[in-house]
Amino acid sequence: MPFCPQCNAEYKPEVSTCPDCQVDLVAQLPETEFMEYGDWAPVESVPNELAGNILQSVLQEDGIPVYLRCHDVPNYGAVKGNASQSEWGDVLVPANLLPQARESLKAYFDSLKDE
Ligand SMILES: [Zn+2]
Repeated sequence: MPFCPQCNAEYKPEVSTCPDCQVDLVAQLPETEFMEYGDWAPVESVPNELAGNILQSVLQEDGIPVYLRCHDVPNYGAVKGNASQSEWGDVLVPANLLPQARESLKAYFDSLKDE
């Protein structure tokens, strides 16, 4: 059964995207992993979900578990007119893997500069 990684709703197998959150469903809830790793630490703030997903896949390719924490409250966007809107959320990694995650992201950002 696929699950929505954001609202944790469970869907039928033929559903691939959560209609509420507009995100791709995952086979397993990240919470299972979330519990296993204890302390999580933010490695990077991201301005939007796309950036979060990109960094997530970069880190996951290096074998680092990732949890995206979204600051946005649904349907609250119109009310928020402040500076915090420039930040969509945080990319969290297990605290003990934080140095490794920083290296991984640094290598990724460096590779972008070369282009
Ligand atoms: Zn959802």
